[in-house]
Amino acid sequence: MRASGRKSSPPNQPAGVASAPRVRVLLPLPLAAGAYDYRLPHGLHAPRGAFVAVPLNGREMLGVVWDGEADPDLAPSRLRDVMAVLDVPPMGETLRRFVEWVAAYTLSPPGAVLRMAMSSPGAFTPPSAKAGWQRAPSEGRNAPDPRMTPARLRVMDALPPGEVMSGTALAEAAGVSPAVVRGLADAGLLVPALLPEDDLFPAPDPEHPGPTLLPDQAAAATRLREKVAERRFGVTLLTGVTGSGKTEVYLDAVAECLRRGRQALVLLPEIALSAQWLDRFRARFGVAPALWHSELGSRTRARTWRAVAEGGVQVLVGARSALFLPFPDLGLIIVDEEHETAFKQEDGVVYHARDMAVVRARLSQASCILVSATPSLETLNNVEAGRYDHVDLPQRHGAAGMPGVEAIDLRQHAPERGRFIAPPLIEAIRETLARGEQAMLFLNRRGYAPLTLCRACGHRMRCPNCTAWLVEHRAQRRLQCHHCGHAEPIPPTCPECNAPGTLTPVGPGVERVVEEATELFPDARRIVMASDTIPGPAAATAAADSIANRQVDLIIGTQIVAKGWHFPHLTLVGVVDADLGLAGGDLRAAERTLQLLHQVSGRAGRAEAPGRVLLQTFNPDHPVMRALVSGDLDAFMAEEAAGRRPGHWPPYGRLAALIVSAEDEREADRAARDLGLAAPRAEGVEILGPAPAPLALLRGRHRRRLLLKARKDIQIQPLLRDWLARVKLPNSVRVQVDVDPVGFL
Ligand code: ADP
Ligand code: ZN
Repeated sequence: MRASGRKSSPPNQPAGVASAPRVRVLLPLPLAAGAYDYRLPHGLHAPRGAFVAVPLNGREMLGVVWDGEADPDLAPSRLRDVMAVLDVPPMGETLRRFVEWVAAYTLSPPGAVLRMAMSSPGAFTPPSAKAGWQRAPSEGRNAPDPRMTPARLRVMDALPPGEVMSGTALAEAAGVSPAVVRGLADAGLLVPALLPEDDLFPAPDPEHPGPTLLPDQAAAATRLREKVAERRFGVTLLTGVTGSGKTEVYLDAVAECLRRGRQALVLLPEIALSAQWLDRFRARFGVAPALWHSELGSRTRARTWRAVAEGGVQVLVGARSALFLPFPDLGLIIVDEEHETAFKQEDGVVYHARDMAVVRARLSQASCILVSATPSLETLNNVEAGRYDHVDLPQRHGAAGMPGVEAIDLRQHAPERGRFIAPPLIEAIRETLARGEQAMLFLNRRGYAPLTLCRACGHRMRCPNCTAWLVEHRAQRRLQCHHCGHAEPIPPTCPECNAPGTLTPVGPGVERVVEEATELFPDARRIVMASDTIPGPAAATAAADSIANRQVDLIIGTQIVAKGWHFPHLTLVGVVDADLGLAGGDLRAAERTLQLLHQVSGRAGRAEAPGRVLLQTFNPDHPVMRALVSGDLDAFMAEEAAGRRPGHWPPYGRLAALIVSAEDEREADRAARDLGLAAPRAEGVEILGPAPAPLALLRGRHRRRLLLKARKDIQIQPLLRDWLARVKLPNSVRVQVDVDPVGFL
């Protein structure tokens, strides 16, 4: 990071003044040591939170003046000088406490968390306002200027006094070449001036007329508004079936936050797919919100970060990383689809954005609203315990009813050999299309086939780096690993027995369903929505528009189609493999499958025409299927809760995972065993493992897993810290700590 845009640089003066004040500076690096001490030269003013440039190992780094006293005993000769204080608003107390809190909770170095809060290097240089031209102050006051040619006169005519225009715009307006403009500048008739910044973050208008809320919605909105008006911390769970109008209701809380002059943050699980959401925001507030996600260009990123810090952004919509932005006065945080696993960051600092949103709201004295049609058991448990309030929207908005959900028992209605769509679903799609309505086929699996098998010798094509089968992607004629990205051409002969042409795809991926649907419904206009066909926001918007405009009859997709889309003409959803998420030993497999399938079901029948959902399953009696068919999600969650309570499984106990990995398998085993031997022994604490992680090999590293499970009243961070400190592991071994794991790969 280069530091420029200094507010102040030290005046020349001899170094080594012992009496100069010392400050602690936290650097955005994963250093275990925390903040470093520096000397603050006379003439520099650096309050707590100030962004400063300091030397580190011969390089210049940006950091933040942190809390706490510098060590007075450190010899002056060992102290280096702060080089400059940057011209950015200092990091506020709230965000500093938040950085520390997240670090302590996740067992990460504070600097690693700070790095997430400084994730926009460009923000630390002052915005480079673009240069343009205006008339010289004296110009035009005197007699006709002999230097004026007709071309030059045209330029002066195109530039009203007092206005600033860019050279290109001016030349274009005057119909002259840019050289004429430069000539006027050389002659001193034009002088440089800064172009006015375009207003990137216009203020959303809370009084902009929005939709009229129905009585239930209005009552819910009133309660949420009251929470915001209290200006203190509180969490409210907002539930309601898909299509009940939760978004309109919470936007009302955003309006209240705006009226109070505080900032609002909305976290969405998949911001790149949120075009329809943004349209609704614009309809409600007259302007677009500020955005924050990984695909922002660096300039927009820098300007957004700075505008947030300066209080110029009122509402920001972002991915989980937006939690670390420098809001000076956050009044409201909304987490939409709070149950989504996309809120969990799995590498680097391992944290759950929903949980950390609650923490940031508490530190900011802000209101927090968690929104979901299928809330997580964690959140429901917090409601039950009285820690969170609960507001529910009981019905779908307007005329729309909930879709009827039926299971298709694949044991009775088997698809044809080598096919994956069962006759009753084929029939239902035919009828839907015949009525001129839209149908959707959902399969949460990319590619053509999840497994490639040799018919002659039974050899299975697997990833050389991971415990995973290679997935065929037919269009690219390649086999791919969905974990490490390894890809290879489909071999013409079996690599094991050399038999030619015996490699056969087994099972369906979404591409294979497309192929089948093309044969079954050749006249239907199809769209495929998967991460390879919908690479970004523009493609997602185009797809959503073509569906809404009825240019499409059949939508085939992976979990992308389950997102909050509103497709009024879609009346049938067919789930090709409803059992898909249930395999594996994951604690939350059933809960997550229910959430996903309920969400995808919710795409059907959102306008007047009733919706229908068909679930293809081999387990129609599975509690997940029964809950989806009956619509009694509460009963399902109660059963889940009853299953987890006795063993102190989350949310009725605490859990942390330690993933030990090494390139050498024996080394991984040894390290895992040593950790196992050193595991804490305490009443109410249980250690499970070490055992091979389900992905026992990932990106060429062998992985072993230990779980620490503890009663809810036990603080696990001190136990973990102590545990890790007691074991000395070789540098080639990595231990990743995951507090509150949600995935168990
Ligand atoms: P949810 O977030 O609960 O799934 P939405 O907020 O997306 O529900 O609402 C479903 C649909 O109903 C959206 O198209 C939304 O614009 C519309 N809608 C909801 N409430 C109203 C209202 N009060 N007036 C008009 N349209 C509404
Ligand atoms: Zn792999």
